[in-house]
Amino acid sequence: MPSLPVTVLGFARWLLALLCLVSVNVQAAIEVGTLSGELNLGPHVELLEDVAREYGIEQLVSRGDALAWQASRQETLNFSFSSSAWWLRLRVVNGSSDEVRRLLELAMPLHDYLDAYVIDEQGEVVSQWRTGNRRDFDSRPIAHRTFVMPVHIPAGESREVFLRLDTHDGLYDATPLYLMSDAGFLAKAQRELMAFSLYFGALLALLIYNLLLYVSTRERSLLLYVAYLGSFFVLMFAARGFAFQYWWPTLPMFNNQMVPINIGIFAFMLAVFSNSFLSLSHHAPWSTRVLFAVAGLCLLSSLPALLGHYAPVFRLMIPAAIVLSCLLLGVAFWRSLRGDTLARIYLVAWGVLLVGVALYFLRVAGILPYNIVTEYAVQVGSGIEFLLLSLGLAWKINQFKNEKLAAERATIELQRSLNQRLEDQVQQRTRELERANRQLTILARTDPLTGLLNRRQFHELVDQELQRRRRSGQPLLFAVMDIDDFKLYNDTYGHQAGDEVLMRVATLLLDHFRRAGDRLFRLGGEEFGLLLEVDSLQAGKQLLERYREALQGLAIPHEASRHGVITASFGLVACQGCEAVRDVQALYHLADKAMYEAKASDRNRVVTCSLLSET
Ligand code: GH3
Ligand code: MG
Ligand code: MG
Repeated sequence: MPSLPVTVLGFARWLLALLCLVSVNVQAAIEVGTLSGELNLGPHVELLEDVAREYGIEQLVSRGDALAWQASRQETLNFSFSSSAWWLRLRVVNGSSDEVRRLLELAMPLHDYLDAYVIDEQGEVVSQWRTGNRRDFDSRPIAHRTFVMPVHIPAGESREVFLRLDTHDGLYDATPLYLMSDAGFLAKAQRELMAFSLYFGALLALLIYNLLLYVSTRERSLLLYVAYLGSFFVLMFAARGFAFQYWWPTLPMFNNQMVPINIGIFAFMLAVFSNSFLSLSHHAPWSTRVLFAVAGLCLLSSLPALLGHYAPVFRLMIPAAIVLSCLLLGVAFWRSLRGDTLARIYLVAWGVLLVGVALYFLRVAGILPYNIVTEYAVQVGSGIEFLLLSLGLAWKINQFKNEKLAAERATIELQRSLNQRLEDQVQQRTRELERANRQLTILARTDPLTGLLNRRQFHELVDQELQRRRRSGQPLLFAVMDIDDFKLYNDTYGHQAGDEVLMRVATLLLDHFRRAGDRLFRLGGEEFGLLLEVDSLQAGKQLLERYREALQGLAIPHEASRHGVITASFGLVACQGCEAVRDVQALYHLADKAMYEAKASDRNRVVTCSLLSET
């Protein structure tokens, strides 16, 4: 059984609520005596459009429901582009037995002008504040990034709260409105602060990490990422009211300019970063130009904010930003179809962010309910986006490193093979050169017609032999051979036939004198020199005789000769120690002399000259 006071109190509350319903034709008063958690006031307030900005609080209180108040019925109030001021009215009643304090929060940190009035049952203004984002931060009754106003309601009494919303130049944003107990506000504020701390902390960690990575690698796309993330960080910090609260609380004008200017900078940095991340200037230079043109438009459209015009900023910037996003997604989609892994990472990152943004706007439009998912969807989406892009950058740098390594390896391999080829060529040329040199040496030493050693070789080699024999005391045999009546042969058979005879005579010489030490020279014309590797004059003479007979045996016709065939005369000289022979010339003269003796005695014979007896 309930006790009497409780029953009476319950009845009183019911009666009060009923009275409120009867007296208010549009919206019922809200019972706040036992309020726990947070109450979304969107569907509970009444609205009055003040087109001419003619109303003051006194008029509203005195004329009451005679004015055209309308129930809002919206989940979240949104006046969008409107040049009017808007009044909001809210009736709260405290059916409890204690005075309560309730906190009214206008949870839109960027709202320009907010005047708030609390009216008691006698129609007196008991509290009032003039605050808003265009007034100093300390105009707020509670130091918080959004606008929070305390409303005291004594036990059993009701209060009317009037809010006057106005803007600098007609740009309203979604305006969530909540009513909470102190404990409810504390819980909400803590929850939000924890979520934002995690969020901004994560962004800051990513920013510092990538900045340090840039310092160590000097990779340009990392710096662009840091600039892109940095502009997003400042934008979010300002848009959520933290920048005004903590960074520049006494500069409301600057604070208002910062949001649109930062959106412009962010859009521009987004284009610059995406261009570098997707290597668009390499893959599709046309898209780079379009991208920078649209991003430049975003940046330019933010400039009127510096002169205090915000509505045109957003009228221009919203379509430009939509075009920019579509362009980026389109290019990334096209690149990912071509198998570009980075474009795929980019698409997923953007996809996550877009889902977050979509959830947020569906909540603002009242299609999705207010809950932790829809409230922080943008934060979660953008956090994941930046994390994925950072991973993408790491992948890109790794890719660069691998490509560089592969290129280095290919260069080294190319250099090695070039060196090898060069070495081969050098070796080949060296071999050719050596061969040519050998050829040249042979040519320099030999007589071109007969292939026998030439006169220069005769001087060199016979001189060496002379010196060697002088040292060893061994015998040296040298002969001069001259073809008989060769002039006549030429005259009879022609010079060409004479040449052929010279070649046949030489070939026959090579056939006969084949010992290792035998040396055969063409001394000039039809005269030959023979250095013989034999020990005695006898043996030498025998060899020459054999040759002479062989030559005659060739029977080369020579009708002008006394022998009828080609013959030759020989002068052989032999010495041992050869002390009496001064030099090669002397040796030659001795042999030549002997040869002329042979000529004189009817030719075709061997005459010897021995110096062997000297030793
Ligand atoms: P002899 O029996 O006294 O040696 O009489 P010969 O005619 O052989 O001697 P001579 O010195 O009067 O003439 C040598 C000739 O050899 C003169 C030249 O026509 C010929 N002769 C010299 N060199 C060459 C050559 O390279 N080719 C040809 N076809 N003939 C040559
Ligand atoms: Mg001669
Ligand atoms: Mg001759």
